[in-house]
Amino acid sequence: MFDNLSEKLDKALHVLKGHGSITEVNVAETLKEVRRALLDADVNFKIAKEFTNTVKEKALGQNVLTTLQPGQLMVKLVKDELTELMGGDAEGINLSGNPSIILMSGLQGSGKTTFSGKLANFLKTKKAKKPLLVACDVYRPAAINQLHVVGDQIGVEVFSDEGNKNPVQIAQNAIAHAKQNGHNVVIIDTAGRLAVDEEMMNEISNVYKAVDPQETLFVVDAMTGQDAVNTAKAFNDRLNFDGVVLTKLDGDTRGGAAISIKSVVNKPIKFIGTGEKMDAIDVFYPNRMADRILG
Ligand code: GDP
Repeated sequence: MFDNLSEKLDKALHVLKGHGSITEVNVAETLKEVRRALLDADVNFKIAKEFTNTVKEKALGQNVLTTLQPGQLMVKLVKDELTELMGGDAEGINLSGNPSIILMSGLQGSGKTTFSGKLANFLKTKKAKKPLLVACDVYRPAAINQLHVVGDQIGVEVFSDEGNKNPVQIAQNAIAHAKQNGHNVVIIDTAGRLAVDEEMMNEISNVYKAVDPQETLFVVDAMTGQDAVNTAKAFNDRLNFDGVVLTKLDGDTRGGAAISIKSVVNKPIKFIGTGEKMDAIDVFYPNRMADRILG
């Protein structure tokens, strides 16, 4: 997970770590390497530039050159900024509704259905909730089937209505079913397309308006490059989503595009997916991830 970025940042900062005193040239060179490491990890160009500018300003502001352990201070400044880049303080999800409605959005293949199952399992086992999973993909019977397989695996009921081609109606029927049967969380898995298109956006925004979710999550495959940022923007413009889910962080991913999303749409990363199994889900803590990346 972010191994490449971690390795490169470590290399960039290594030079400073052992130094009792450093020069302005050391700082400038290090920041250049830090920027290169971020760009190599696919962090958006503008964001990488702002990142190093901020660290530089803070270093000057704190008179880094005259402090006792300037190397350590620089590492701390980079770590703080990395935490900020990935989202600052961790934020949970809003479960205040009765039932709480969680709408999943994202492109096809991003990992929405898998994550819907993981989240249901997480809420059931860790938060003692009784979730209902809802199959709102009216185009792909295979997707509905897939959600049923997931539901069976984790012992969570799945609501579907195969003949119905109206996702708004399916979602509303599912919520009524949840109320009647004591489900306190409803997770709506929506249809995804391979690319953002108007029809898909209209459809999901109609579901969004009709069910008024407590929480709308945007699911994105961490392996996607800079396109991930544009996709996030398009979804956020229509849904004003509450948080991001980064999936497939177990792969050999550069991941920088995905962590750029936070800066572009100003929404926190809330969860990460780290595998295909139902327990491969983690709440995302930016400070812990920054610690991990910077060793
Ligand atoms: P959807 O079209 O958005 O619903 O995506 P799916 O949930 O069907 O996931 C697409 C593929 O990605 C499937 O083969 C999943 O098993 C896989 N997948 C989903 N999440 C993860 C993850 O966190 N790690 C890995 N390695 N694979 C994942």
